[in-house]
Amino acid sequence: VFLFTMKKIALLGATGSIGTSTVEVVKAYPELFQIVSLTFHSNVEKGVALIEQLRPRYVGVGSEKLRVELTHRFPDIEFGVGEVGLIKAAILEEIDVVLTAVTGSIGLQPTMAAIKAGKDIALANKETLVMAGKWVMKAARENNVTILPVDSEHSAIFQCLNGQKSDNLKELVITASGGSFRDLTRDELKSVTLEQALKHPNWSMGKKITIDSSTMMNKGLEVIEAHWLFGTDYDKIKVVLHKESIVHSMVVLKDGAYLAQLGPSDMREPIQYALTYPNRLPIKNELPFDLTQIGQLNFAPMDFERFPMLKLAFTVGKKGGAYPTVYNAANEIAATSFIDGKISYLQIEQLVQRAVEHYNETTEVTLEEVIEIDKQTRTIVERWIKEEGQL
Ligand code: NAD
Ligand code: MG
Repeated sequence: VFLFTMKKIALLGATGSIGTSTVEVVKAYPELFQIVSLTFHSNVEKGVALIEQLRPRYVGVGSEKLRVELTHRFPDIEFGVGEVGLIKAAILEEIDVVLTAVTGSIGLQPTMAAIKAGKDIALANKETLVMAGKWVMKAARENNVTILPVDSEHSAIFQCLNGQKSDNLKELVITASGGSFRDLTRDELKSVTLEQALKHPNWSMGKKITIDSSTMMNKGLEVIEAHWLFGTDYDKIKVVLHKESIVHSMVVLKDGAYLAQLGPSDMREPIQYALTYPNRLPIKNELPFDLTQIGQLNFAPMDFERFPMLKLAFTVGKKGGAYPTVYNAANEIAATSFIDGKISYLQIEQLVQRAVEHYNETTEVTLEEVIEIDKQTRTIVERWIKEEGQL
């Protein structure tokens, strides 16, 4: 019998794809997990349904109007707005673990506040680590906080590294499905539409990460995320194309042994593992998974010319400082602008490339400077989009 105590959870980004999977995990074990606080931005219908089901003590929302409206409707619940609301939700006294499932670098401040308040972090929000990995990891060490990966690749690596001495590690092998446009040439990418980009072959996820998967930005962000989470040099991080998304990632040990973690494309698994670590629990309503039905697993090298954003991830990662911050911020604006119909698909890559070239600093930066550079990059890329219009 495992000894679990009730885990009290803050769920940031409750209405999203990861948020929804997290709620399923929590509801499967009501005696073990409780969502004490949650946040959502603007999906009122879904947010209200969650409040009614979960009865959290605190809720962060996206606007003052929504706060006033919901305070009238739920007088026994405390509501907050914007970044302040996210931070408050994350640092409530009774919270044990904060699951960060917001999209984008808005996740940074609440994550830092939670770490300083001694809360463990179940991290889905990879943009936070890309933007400011050095400071997030430093704060976690100083406050004796565990960062538990939720991203499936990083959860896989975390599981494979479990019990390994760090000097046994030779390299990390991150698998990539290839995203919606895996089989298209660069020439064919010129005319792709949003609708096509949003059809991921294996995973159902939020819009931004689905676009990021198609541009291979997502894998680039994951390389940088892995560097910070596991303290691994970029030269020891490899990416392979694996179109089945069955092997979620691998580690190679110094004697040449490969350890891999396999499973269905079901985010409830890494989410639940982050919440039960180091224990495990059965997954309720398990998805069918039969390797004899899958039959074949394919692996191929990644083509850096076909996917320049992956190549750029290693470049900005190795340069360090605020380069990854710029890479991430430019993409957040570019990917969102593509989703909003303001730019064409290939402009996403062009804008990220241009922002990285435009940023020409090599000096060490502070966290405050990184936050400022993130803002400036957004402003510059937004200006470029206004000036250029649709290509
Ligand atoms: P999503 O778009 O489905 O949900 C995003 C959530 O963030 C929503 O609840 C939304 O209300 C909230 N949000 C958005 N903008 C906000 C803002 N400005 N302020 C406050 N809240 C805001 O996204 P998702 O697919 O669930 O992804 C969430 C994070 O998890 C991302 O960082 C993504 O890279 C990461 N992730 C997702 C998956 C997946 O399978 N979906 C897998 C690995 C990692
Ligand atoms: Mg992933």
